[in-house]
Amino acid sequence: MGLKLEHVSYLYGTDTELLVRALDDVNLEIPDGQFIGLIGHTGSGKSTLVQHLNGLLKPSEGTILFNGENIWAQDYSRKTLRSKVGLVFQYPEHQLFETDVFADVCYGPKNLGLEQGEIERRAKKALELVGFPEKFFGQSPFELSGGQKRRVAIAGVLAMEPDILVLDEPIAGLDPKGKREILEVIEKYRKKNSATVIMISHNMDDIVKVADRVIVMHKGKKAMDGTPTEIFSHQEEIVALGLGLPVVSRLVQRLNEKGKNIPASICRSEELVAYITGEKK
Ligand code: ADP
Ligand code: MG
Repeated sequence: MGLKLEHVSYLYGTDTELLVRALDDVNLEIPDGQFIGLIGHTGSGKSTLVQHLNGLLKPSEGTILFNGENIWAQDYSRKTLRSKVGLVFQYPEHQLFETDVFADVCYGPKNLGLEQGEIERRAKKALELVGFPEKFFGQSPFELSGGQKRRVAIAGVLAMEPDILVLDEPIAGLDPKGKREILEVIEKYRKKNSATVIMISHNMDDIVKVADRVIVMHKGKKAMDGTPTEIFSHQEEIVALGLGLPVVSRLVQRLNEKGKNIPASICRSEELVAYITGEKK
């Protein structure tokens, strides 16, 4: 069934003079099983939006439904919601707090009221999935490198085995290898659990590789919504929204400036290769 946002707006600083309308009348339906890339320049409302999906922020206006139920209804359990919609924060430091890695990853399943054996089994499985070495399970999460902190933060959410995995810039600041590994973890989890994934990223090349739907935020509004091919064929619009294009889209643009006539919808390398060599995909 999935998530549904109806006319959702969010205001920061309602008790101050610095009122910010971070979300402005957002309507959005997220059916089960999609991999959504959420993009938009800094300050467009992406982080604010995803914090609404698991009930961390309450809309100033509008309604959020999960599997048809209003998550802000009086008797609705947002604790259960948070185990089904798992949010990995933009900064792992905001998420990690226990004295050692293993305890940190156990925290989520423990909160679900599972028995100790199951809690530890899940934590171990999640740390294994993200490729975190067992010999460092006892380490303080704050002494880890940025990449390892990211892994532990992701494992903490995966250990709850959420149906919907929401990740706020999970690959920002990682080196290419670390980035690839994290994307593989996300793909693996999604396939194994038939999960929905919503991933915020500034890396358009990754977005076209993994996402089957792209949502573009601009000034708190949903500016565009479609398949990567649909979105990135609107090259000028994307650039006007302060965003970059995938490398392949830029290449197509350059080639067309030099007189070629390549369809603007081509945004992936295999599509461009197939087009140039005349091979069918
Ligand atoms: P993004 O994740 O796309 O960069 P955010 O959702 O973080 O955007 O921010 C949307 C808007 O809300 C921005 O104008 C930002 O400055 C503002 N904002 C975000 N968090 C806060 C906060 N805690 N207090 C006040 N304003 C905030
Ligand atoms: Mg953000």
